[in-house]
Amino acid sequence: MSRLYVVSGPSGVGKSTVVAEVLKVRPDIWLSVSATTRPPRPGEQSGREYFFVSAEEFAQRADAGDMLEWASFAGNSYGTPRGPVQEHLERGPVLLEIELQGARQVRDAMPESVLIFLAPPSPEELKRRLVGRGTEDDASVRARLERADAELAAVAEFDHVVRNIDVATAAEELSALIV
Ligand code: ADP
Ligand code: 5GP
Repeated sequence: MSRLYVVSGPSGVGKSTVVAEVLKVRPDIWLSVSATTRPPRPGEQSGREYFFVSAEEFAQRADAGDMLEWASFAGNSYGTPRGPVQEHLERGPVLLEIELQGARQVRDAMPESVLIFLAPPSPEELKRRLVGRGTEDDASVRARLERADAELAAVAEFDHVVRNIDVATAAEELSALIV
């Protein structure tokens, strides 16, 4: 059995960007595709970035125990389907890109997993990146920044911290942690 790796950190810190860079050079790593009730952003495809599902379907699957972990974040639900993670762990390292409450659930359920926190250079730069991404309305930016304080305060709960100053360096550091 390979290990489960969790990358977490506040919205807008660059998790998707850095993980995508790692996957370019690490075809051995499998990135889990989460289910979410959030509507797709332009260009996002169901089954690729996420499985986009209704609130009813999400609740049903969570109740049935189909999620390894799940959480509410900025008005929507997000969860990791359990089956594919278990299957892929038999073949190689599995990576989850999830927020703090989910990371804590994984730590409790699978204590051997490796938790990695992606940290911003500064709170101001975090806000610049989140707003600069241009995907969120004002309410969503506010909800995400409100959560960022709690996420940043939880850094000591993680096994490793990677600071995302430039993408290439952060990707190299993250890749080196995944064996
Ligand atoms: P997350 O997945 O953590 O919400 P994203 O990967 O969507 O964050 O990144 C948020 C924004 O910040 C994107 O516009 C992305 O291009 C940008 N970004 C990511 N990493 C860096 C970096 N090291 N320097 C500058 N901008 C970055
Ligand atoms: P976004 O809406 O920006 O794609 O994601 C919002 C937050 O939800 C991010 O911090 C992202 O990492 C997190 N997230 C994505 N998928 C999951 C999941 O399956 N479980 C949990 N707990 N969080 C997730």
